[in-house]
Amino acid sequence: MRFVIVGGGPAGTQAATDAARFGAEVVLIERDIVGGAANLRDCIPSKAMIATGGAKSYLGRLEEIGLVDVAVNLDFDRLGKRIAGITERLSMAQEQILRSQNVQIVRGTGRLLGPHEVEATTDEGTSVFHADAIMLSTGSRPRIPDWVELDGDRVLTTRDAYPPKVLPEHLIVVGSGVTGVEFVHMFSSLGSKVTLIVSREQVLPSKDPEVAAVLENDFLRRGVHLLKGARAESVVRNGDEVTVTCDDGRVVTGSHALLAIGSIPNSEYLNLEAAGVESDTWGFIGINHHCQTNVAHIYAAGDLSGKLPLSSVAKMQGRKIAEHALIGHTVAHRHLDYDKAASAIFTEPEIADVGLAEADAFAEGRKIRVTKVPFASTPKALINNDPRGFVKIISDPATGVVLGGSIVGQHAAELISVIALAVTAGLKVTDIQESMLVHPSLGEALADAAD
Ligand SMILES: Cc1cc2nc3c(=O)[nH]c(=O)nc-3n(C[C@H](O)[C@H](O)[C@H](O)COP(=O)(O)OP(=O)(O)OC[C@H]3O[C@@H](n4cnc5c(N)ncnc54)[C@H](O)[C@@H]3O)c2cc1C
Repeated sequence: MRFVIVGGGPAGTQAATDAARFGAEVVLIERDIVGGAANLRDCIPSKAMIATGGAKSYLGRLEEIGLVDVAVNLDFDRLGKRIAGITERLSMAQEQILRSQNVQIVRGTGRLLGPHEVEATTDEGTSVFHADAIMLSTGSRPRIPDWVELDGDRVLTTRDAYPPKVLPEHLIVVGSGVTGVEFVHMFSSLGSKVTLIVSREQVLPSKDPEVAAVLENDFLRRGVHLLKGARAESVVRNGDEVTVTCDDGRVVTGSHALLAIGSIPNSEYLNLEAAGVESDTWGFIGINHHCQTNVAHIYAAGDLSGKLPLSSVAKMQGRKIAEHALIGHTVAHRHLDYDKAASAIFTEPEIADVGLAEADAFAEGRKIRVTKVPFASTPKALINNDPRGFVKIISDPATGVVLGGSIVGQHAAELISVIALAVTAGLKVTDIQESMLVHPSLGEALADAAD
């Protein structure tokens, strides 16, 4: 079977690896680098910048643990080289794995020519591949509204910001979802003055208010200005100044502005009509629970599919697609349950959650048991000099089965894995509570919250 994949991000590379393992002849068409925007522009560079910002803010608190007179200076050149080094290393490793599995990597732009034909345009010309199954995983890019004139210098999207040529003196971030707050954290910890335009009354409008409040308090503590209940409606650069005007008449002037107001799918070049693949008005391709489009042998995955825009979800979709396309008819395979995807926000403190949210359970009138433990009572959090935040576990009061959880605090993105495993495997609170964990460790807060 020949399996042709267009787009080599987390979805495409995972599907290519698995499909090759299952015996398919795999062609992966990628116009940029293997690993995708996730490696090159989004997840990895943003987290690398945040690691530097986090280290800098930690150094700012060293006196509290008995270390004085430690000076730090930011070197953007080194920071840039470090980020480039990480992305290059990850991409090379992924490419090596694919090549070792005989995946044919075609450096070019792919598009459909028909239900079973994919064209790749490379520097050398065009080639057409016949395919028994096709997967589209071309990702997404930042949404840019018509009231903004980007210049990649002072008016930026998230993809222009790694690393900045200079540290913005005053950065105005438009958009207070996950990406927006991560950039606020990144730049305020590096030393920029930051204003965040929040269209509602709470940052992270889709998150638990208690979780959002911890983050807002931290932003206020470090001097971030929150402009709430305001929608930006124009961003104008004038020399070294950028002015953002909001729909209620409020105006903020800073040195830079950064837009973080969502993404749009990379579907317009795919020539979907040629194969009869349907997309919605935004260009997202609809899929069923096997990630099949309306054309059964053509699959879509990752951000292009309009599901949860997470690298981890894209990867899992890629895995499920390879399974379904290659061996799906012979073995039972578990459907992907998007409600069980863990996610994290890499701010300070970190925020992570998985499964059923408390607010959703109340809205559905569902009976739940909520147990919560603050890190202030966890020895390791005190030793680490960061007792902010809490662990919250949501379970079924009748069976004790873990349904979800939230963690706010240091290493939340790592710690949530335990609750994610419990949610996926249907474990009970007693399974967590009776695990004999390391002392002292942050994980003890999980066992305490399960009590
Ligand atoms: C700033 C930011 C930070 C993020 N941080 C995280 C995070 O910490 N954790 C997380 O889980 N998610 C994070 N995300 C989301 C994550 O980046 C995406 O969900 C993920 O990249 C989606 O993977 P994908 O496989 O759909 O596509 P992508 O990673 O976007 O890859 C798509 C690939 O397709 C290629 N392509 C496009 N069109 C064509 C074509 N016609 N022909 C050939 N190739 C083509 C592109 O070059 C690209 O390499 C972040 C997003 C942003 C914006």
